Amino acid sequence: MTGKSEAEQDRRRLYERIGQFLFDHRLEPSPANYMLVHMLVTGSNASAVAAVEEATEDGLRLSQDEADRILAMIGEAPPAPPSPAADAAIKEVRRQMDDFAGIVDTTRAEVKVYGRDLKSGAAQLAAAAGAESIAELIRVTGTMIERTRAAEGRLEAATGEARALRARLASAEEEARRDPLTGLPNRRAFGDRFAALSNEGTPFAVALCDIDRFKRINDSHGHAVGDRVLKTVASILQQSCEGATVARYGGEEFAILFPAKEAAAAAAIVDAAREAVAERQFTVRETDAPLGRVAFSAGVVAAAKGEAYETIMQRADALLYKAKHEGRNRVETEPSA
Ligand code: GH3
Ligand code: MG
Ligand code: MG
Repeated sequence: MTGKSEAEQDRRRLYERIGQFLFDHRLEPSPANYMLVHMLVTGSNASAVAAVEEATEDGLRLSQDEADRILAMIGEAPPAPPSPAADAAIKEVRRQMDDFAGIVDTTRAEVKVYGRDLKSGAAQLAAAAGAESIAELIRVTGTMIERTRAAEGRLEAATGEARALRARLASAEEEARRDPLTGLPNRRAFGDRFAALSNEGTPFAVALCDIDRFKRINDSHGHAVGDRVLKTVASILQQSCEGATVARYGGEEFAILFPAKEAAAAAAIVDAAREAVAERQFTVRETDAPLGRVAFSAGVVAAAKGEAYETIMQRADALLYKAKHEGRNRVETEPSA
């Protein structure tokens, strides 16, 4: 019995420590933040613990940006923040639907009145077809024609708005699939492309690239310079891997899908990109001071038919790890079958 209540107390303590951390650092209790703090409190993810310790050195508060960056770094990309464009578009759609409903209600009410008037006019006509009842019928019909025209105008305007909204929603959707820093497809878009190729049954190769010693670049030159390096590496990768999908997979990691390529052919392309990056003279824009060599390591695998996403990415990651282990600035692939 005591065992049970102790376990319960442990759970409560864990919960309270997570809550305390979130409050101390003024972080929203969002699922992503909760997960990160859970990792810290339980110590279940050493890189997350180290990164947070570093970010909160000298009693600094952990900002949301830092938390997001750490989540991305450990491969747990925080859920894309709701895009303001998408939010605005959704609000607009709601307002439009209310407008449509309003127009339909008014029109229905008007048709009802018209029907009633018509009925009583017809009754009068049947009783005695006098000039008065005919004049009344003409008046009622005239009013209805006017109202119908007005409703038509309102509907036309609403339809135009709906068309514009559809276009805005499509662009918001597109925005949610792109990494804002590099402009590359993000991890979600990469996953979708992967699923599409798998479903088509097209054979393909996957490369996972990770910039070498990137933390040092940030540490020596600052985050803004690090960001610029990320952008340049992204653009070199994209230029070197024509016809492939180059995505930002995480912090300083890029994933590439090569449709209809064997591992060896894909690895050769990635190796050429690696060389292009390694040869590039990176300088700090403000001072022109050289940044030193920037390089990346990569693991390249061919997807086996029907193989699960996670398994392929794990195989690529294992080869990436090997490339790091064997000195970095290199591409590892599996011997072809
Ligand atoms: P390794 O060769 O083993 O890959 O070393 P590394 O330093 O590249 O690897 P590590 O995982 O220790 O550090 C990755 C760094 O990438 C940590 C993080 O601060 C940085 N990072 C992640 N995302 C961004 C980003 O968007 N901008 C900048 N400037 N830095 C980022
Ligand atoms: Mg990394
Ligand atoms: Mg790295």
